[in-house]
Amino acid sequence: MAILLLLNQVDPAILEGHLKSHPDCPDVRTYPDTGNVEEIDCVIVWKHDQGLLNEYPNLKLIASYGAGVENILSDPTLPEGVPITRFVDKSLSDQMAEFILAAILNHRVNLTYYREQQAACHWQEKPAIKGNNVTILGLGELGTTAAKLLHKNDYKISGWARSEKNIDGITSYYGENQLFQSVAEADFVVCLLPLTPETREILNSDLFAAMKKGSYLINVGRGDHVNEDDLMNYLSQEHLSGALLDVFSTEPLPRDHPFWQHPKIHVTPHISSPTDKAKLARQILDNYNRLSKGEPLLHLIDRKRSY
Ligand code: NDP
Repeated sequence: MAILLLLNQVDPAILEGHLKSHPDCPDVRTYPDTGNVEEIDCVIVWKHDQGLLNEYPNLKLIASYGAGVENILSDPTLPEGVPITRFVDKSLSDQMAEFILAAILNHRVNLTYYREQQAACHWQEKPAIKGNNVTILGLGELGTTAAKLLHKNDYKISGWARSEKNIDGITSYYGENQLFQSVAEADFVVCLLPLTPETREILNSDLFAAMKKGSYLINVGRGDHVNEDDLMNYLSQEHLSGALLDVFSTEPLPRDHPFWQHPKIHVTPHISSPTDKAKLARQILDNYNRLSKGEPLLHLIDRKRSY
């Protein structure tokens, strides 16, 4: 049997190398060189071209290259009943937490501002931002790790999720009714939600209006969490002081997109927490072996919840 790599915007050769370094790895193929499609029992997927998932009659596992699975669930050819797993790893959570802390500190102490002043040879002080209330939308694997790191650094943390949480030092908000309340006091709002029908464009004018004047948005979830026009409006009205965006509806962000030149938007190229390919390879092969032994799979997603 064989594993097929259905990967866009990442180099499949690196993952292939890591998979093949394991003695128990089956044959690995890279789309479109699928060989006999009946031999494919596992696909590893990232930003794949939609419409390919029903071409493998013996498919037993669909594994996401990353933590998100929205591109798999939106494929109209997704076969019923095939388990879908995602990448969950301490490295992913730790990198994300560090990135969020860095983004907050960068904004608080005006590092980007000083870099711009330097370009114009300006010697100009600007007071650091005092507020240290942070709300994290999404308190799952990544959100919880980020909340704990920020809490350790003396930030006052609230989080919002579907279900109530009991995490030391973190105020828990949950459910649709508590969304606006969760962001009302925040100086920084971080989106770490999965992209689902319920969370698409959750970062919209209603949410921005509920945020404090002068607050800062960090979106490291998915680009489609943001209503772009609403964000531009709330930035130009100076209700929001700025935004760091790591993820976009179209990636790479098109050259003519207004976010590139916007003075209050900090663009990073979907790098807040890259997948560690060696760890991903090990995790997928572990699940592949579990599958063959009939053991429970790790990091399964729930199709009904969409994450
Ligand atoms: P998890 O599935 O572990 O956590 C998701 C969290 O979101 C949970 O707390 C869940 O609530 C909450 N949630 C989901 N739907 C809703 C809803 N409708 N209302 C309220 N809360 C909701 O995911 P991860 O933490 O592992 O990853 C989160 C996302 O981060 C990924 O889906 C991906 O999009 C993004 N990501 C971005 C990366 C980047 O480089 N920019 C890298 C990796 C991930 P509950 O706990 O109650 O279930």
